[in-house]
Amino acid sequence: MNYVTHNHVESIAHALFRPVGVGGVYARTGLFEQVIDGLAALISRYRPHDAEIFSFPPVASRAQIEKSGYLKSFPHLLGCVSCLHGTEPEIRAVVEGASAGKAWTGALGATDLVLAPAACYPVYPMVAARGTVPVGGLRFDVTCDCFRHESTHELGRFQSFRMREFVCVGSPDEVVAFREYWKIQALELVRRLALPHQTATASDPFFGRAGKLMAVSQVEQELKFELLIPINSADNPAACMSFNYHQGHFGETWGIETSDGGVAHTACVAFGMDRFALAIFATHGLDLKKWERGVREALSV
Ligand code: AMP
Ligand code: ZN
Repeated sequence: MNYVTHNHVESIAHALFRPVGVGGVYARTGLFEQVIDGLAALISRYRPHDAEIFSFPPVASRAQIEKSGYLKSFPHLLGCVSCLHGTEPEIRAVVEGASAGKAWTGALGATDLVLAPAACYPVYPMVAARGTVPVGGLRFDVTCDCFRHESTHELGRFQSFRMREFVCVGSPDEVVAFREYWKIQALELVRRLALPHQTATASDPFFGRAGKLMAVSQVEQELKFELLIPINSADNPAACMSFNYHQGHFGETWGIETSDGGVAHTACVAFGMDRFALAIFATHGLDLKKWERGVREALSV
């Protein structure tokens, strides 16, 4: 295990990614995708038996993201899809610089879409539209290409990355049980992949001064845990999975009820696919043939 050296990280990045001209955004090589595919298939083997599967597009409804609270909590991370509005001559004038000295980007106006910041957000309004949540709760397996306007772009912190989530909607007991079960399942999964790891309570990067208090309360109530695996350094391992208990936040926001008339609670277990795959390479190296047999079998590589 030699992920700690700078050269090692550089050579890994070179073998797995190609720059596309913007920090934190990369073309991924076939070698990397082979492990992404293997990891996705391995995670599917852990899918809850009754989970409904959805693949969400990389864009989401702006109205839904606003209502869900994301805009208030993480305005610094959100990306909005903006376009040129107007008549053909107006748009042509903007693009051809007729309004001298003005960058065309100044004429952009927001559309109904934002770039999806996480995979689970579209689940909650969908569940709300179905009516009361049945006894036993509901489970989902969702994927999405996500965007976050990150301020730093060290290896593993992407602006564009893939997220897979298992989501549970139900009574508080059902949802807490789901998350606790997953904290154990995840340990089995990382042991199969022979990855050094640790679990820690965590907080989301809430915006501003008030956000700091929210983060403290999140840690105190143990609402978020992360599974950490070294990528750039052993001392500062990276969060490759998160286990999130939202309590009644989405249930209240979208009016989701359980069969006893209570507010539905929700939890999600998120795999950062690109970061997770990167951690596998950082641990085991670039030569798949040299990986221990159990790891190769688990990932079918
Ligand atoms: P979060 O919703 O912040 O808990 O994110 C869920 C998971 O997505 C994290 O545990 C990471 O593995 C992954 N993730 C979040 N942000 C990034 C990023 N900027 N680059 C790569 N992976 C990320
Ligand atoms: Zn989620």
